[in-house]
Amino acid sequence: MIILGHSCRIGYLFQPTFHKSVVRYIIVLLLLTNMPQANAAWVEKTAAVMGTHISVELWHPNEEQAEQLAQDVIDEMWRIDLLMSPFREESELSRINRLASQSPVSISQEMYQLLQKAVYFSRLSQGAFDITFASIGQLYDYRAAIHPEQAKIESLLSTIDFNHLLFDSTKRTVAFAIKGVQIDLGGIAKGHAVDGAIELLKRAGVAHALVTAGGDSRILGDRRGRPWHVAIRNPRDKNSTVVLLPLSDAAVSTSGDYERYFEAGGVRYHHIISPKTGQSPSQLRSVTIIGADATTTDALSTTLFIMGLKKGLALIETLTDIDAVIIDSSGTMHYSKGLAEPAP
Ligand code: ADP
Ligand code: MG
Repeated sequence: MIILGHSCRIGYLFQPTFHKSVVRYIIVLLLLTNMPQANAAWVEKTAAVMGTHISVELWHPNEEQAEQLAQDVIDEMWRIDLLMSPFREESELSRINRLASQSPVSISQEMYQLLQKAVYFSRLSQGAFDITFASIGQLYDYRAAIHPEQAKIESLLSTIDFNHLLFDSTKRTVAFAIKGVQIDLGGIAKGHAVDGAIELLKRAGVAHALVTAGGDSRILGDRRGRPWHVAIRNPRDKNSTVVLLPLSDAAVSTSGDYERYFEAGGVRYHHIISPKTGQSPSQLRSVTIIGADATTTDALSTTLFIMGLKKGLALIETLTDIDAVIIDSSGTMHYSKGLAEPAP
């Protein structure tokens, strides 16, 4: 296993120009902040929400408040699930899918902004990330091992196109330009939920936390003096990890072909769909993105999975403060220039 350093996130505390007394002051401060405080606690909570495993770990000077805040994080995940689940008829997302082909649908500010972000990533990736993938994506059932026939895919391919989403910012509405368009936020909603949870914790004064929803995590601060370690698992062995990322104040998302899939006729059908073909790409096994916020890392991990190794890494190198670790179909690992193995 290798440990990769994320160079752009390493802060330099001791500048050579610092006066000795300043250094002593910082050391005393560090010691004090690490002293045990009455009632202070690390609290951990897990839950199954949004069809995935949710976990929160946080530190707070007051144990009771820590417990409450961890519960608030889980509640925030439920709130997003109620808004954005494609499996709930009453969700805002389902309402859009039912009505937007007929007339513009009024939507919440939060939904409007997230749809705008999704379109931003569509433009950035020249259509690799596209929430209208669901026009065909909804025909796959990974649990029941069902996939649409090729002829069906071809007849529906023109319904996948983010340009079919018509927005009116003054009225705050969205409409679908043609019939048959469907949207799904599975490639960005968990990141959005994680960011919402971290904002909630920040507002409450929490300085050290890790929030995870499936493959999307965000870290607030450090682990009180040490970095958090986020592991990237071996895409073909769920019990082994291939990379450790020491991180603080960062978001990290992994998309893999092993999350939701079935095999039939030698083909691996998984939950990431290329908008060009209506099928799952097979060039990569997993993509991990490291960045500042989880909405971005979530969207980009799905995006790179579709773009493939060369185009994907080229895109990452154009973005500031974003890095990628990619495992290709032969199991070989590739990573962007901002990541480095620590000097021996
Ligand atoms: P996970 O849901 O396992 O965390 P990802 O972040 O990679 O994994 O998201 C996969 C989800 O993204 C799929 O389940 C689906 O809802 C959605 N998705 C699939 N293909 C696309 C695409 N081309 N553009 C946008 N979203 C997609
Ligand atoms: Mg994603």
